[in-house]
Amino acid sequence: MAYSIKKWDLSELFPGFNSPELQAAFDNVEEQVTSFEGLRDKLKADIEVEHFLEAMRASEATSRIVNKVYAFAELSFAADTQDQNAQSLVGRVQQFVAEMQNRVLFFDLWWKAVDEQNAERLMKASGDYRYYLEEMRHFKPHTLSEPEEKVVNLKDVTGPNALINLYDAITNRYVFKVKVNGTVQELTRAQLQPFIQGPDPVLRARAYQELYRVYAADGPILGQMYQTRARDWHNENINLRKFSSALSVRNLANDVPDEAVNTLMEVTKKNSKIFHRYFKMKAKHVGVKKLRRYDIYAPVAKSDKPFKYDEAAKMVLESFAAFDPKIGQLAQRVFDQNHLDSEIRKGKQGGAFCASITPEMTPYVLLNYTGRARDVATMAHELGHAIHTMLASHHNTFTFHSSLPLAETASTFGEMMLTEKLLSEEKDEAVRRDILFKQMDDAFATVLRQIYFALFEREAHEMVQKNASTDELSAAYMKNLQEQFGDSVELSDEFKWEWVSIPHIYHTPFYVYAYAFGQLLVFSLYKQFKAEGDSFKPKYLKILSAGGSEAPAKILAQAGIDIRSEKFWQGGFDVLDGLVSELEKLPVDAKPAAKAKAASSAKGKKSKTVKAKVKRKAAKKR
Ligand SMILES: [Zn+2]
Repeated sequence: MAYSIKKWDLSELFPGFNSPELQAAFDNVEEQVTSFEGLRDKLKADIEVEHFLEAMRASEATSRIVNKVYAFAELSFAADTQDQNAQSLVGRVQQFVAEMQNRVLFFDLWWKAVDEQNAERLMKASGDYRYYLEEMRHFKPHTLSEPEEKVVNLKDVTGPNALINLYDAITNRYVFKVKVNGTVQELTRAQLQPFIQGPDPVLRARAYQELYRVYAADGPILGQMYQTRARDWHNENINLRKFSSALSVRNLANDVPDEAVNTLMEVTKKNSKIFHRYFKMKAKHVGVKKLRRYDIYAPVAKSDKPFKYDEAAKMVLESFAAFDPKIGQLAQRVFDQNHLDSEIRKGKQGGAFCASITPEMTPYVLLNYTGRARDVATMAHELGHAIHTMLASHHNTFTFHSSLPLAETASTFGEMMLTEKLLSEEKDEAVRRDILFKQMDDAFATVLRQIYFALFEREAHEMVQKNASTDELSAAYMKNLQEQFGDSVELSDEFKWEWVSIPHIYHTPFYVYAYAFGQLLVFSLYKQFKAEGDSFKPKYLKILSAGGSEAPAKILAQAGIDIRSEKFWQGGFDVLDGLVSELEKLPVDAKPAAKAKAASSAKGKKSKTVKAKVKRKAAKKR
């Protein structure tokens, strides 16, 4: 079978924007909600188990349809952010879902208010719904009255949600102009990426500079959008809901103790020197005294050979199957059912993500495939996400999707399986070297970089409360970068605009630490895999198949991992430290891929960042 670059087929969700099926789904949800409203007067703390479970099943049935409608809107919009049908459907769905949520809100509020003893009785009998119910009760201290919750829901549609849609619509239509071989090319952000990570030092700088020229031109607007997002976060979560900090809102949603996240952030800061050492060493391999920020993803060998899509798909599938045939088969399903959009198109959302909709439906994956080694890694990454939820498909609609901190486990592990395969087959020393360096580049992008984003978010949210201007936020971002890189990299001024180009901090505040969480966890799991061999596999598959049916700390504790301990996180960094030491032993190639000649003196230019691994949950709103 040959694989080719395609647009995905959303018809399994709905045949089209104007289809009777789509309208029927809206009607169906409305009917179900009307019938659910009949429960209002019957809810008592001493409700019979059977009646309670009936309500849960009814609620799940409605969620499944809502998830599908939501996914159809969001995925159509991602496929073409300039499509007016998609834009208006997103608006319609958000409005509709908010109204429906408001009508059934009484159930959640009742459930949170049930006394401990009865709650325990009902949860005990709830089987796979138990964790979902337990988690809901965590929010009890932060829950408002029914009329207040309703207003929040409605104002979210035209407030933060609308703001984020606008941010996407504005930034996804940016066109970047880069002069290549004397001709000016007009590129999307995805098409700019190969230059940013490419072998030509002049083009790298030019691509970064153009990227931030465009973002800076809208800097004041994008900055204002961010300020609004942060203010809204504060108004709702701290002023009204009484969370102790902007970050702990995310932590509770992730069901991870504040203490574990703080430890993760502190241990990461302490280990930034591993990356400084790495960048200094990499400079020698790139053939310069000191790396510019433009050069940190530069290939160290002339090996950026393009991968044909068919070849890439086969490599990824084979590497998965080599770990476990079942995993290979699951990933195969995403291709077979045409749930993968790999094509590059104007207006299509940049980056990559995987959307899991209902337990029994094969997830949808979006990529922007340009044929570089990194795109192959991204394919493995997103298919890893797909496998994760497919392995958890025996759970219900509320619990099959893992919470964020574990959400990056299978994806990151998938990338490592791919790397393993590439290394085992590659004979060319230069290419092998490039693969090893890329592993470190990726570790930087997923761990250090993401934690520093989270540190910036924490600071920025506080600054916005003190009425900081966009320029002041940019200055704070620059300081954050200086601390992140130390003296290992030369930073140019335009990087101060990088933060307005990071969709995550707009979409899902504090999402980013989950990447570091997942990557460090996977390093430690991978180390176990190497030590234990086949006997490790059931343990790993058990973590994945738990999905979101249990607290992350509990799922991991069963595999012997304590996320509160500094030692655990340090273990992940020790793997990286070992990798850098290995790289330090490699002889420096006399003829690096392309010398970054004009390297060390690039003032007043621009640049941008990297891993646009945007993962959007299709249908979950908390
Ligand atoms: Zn991911």
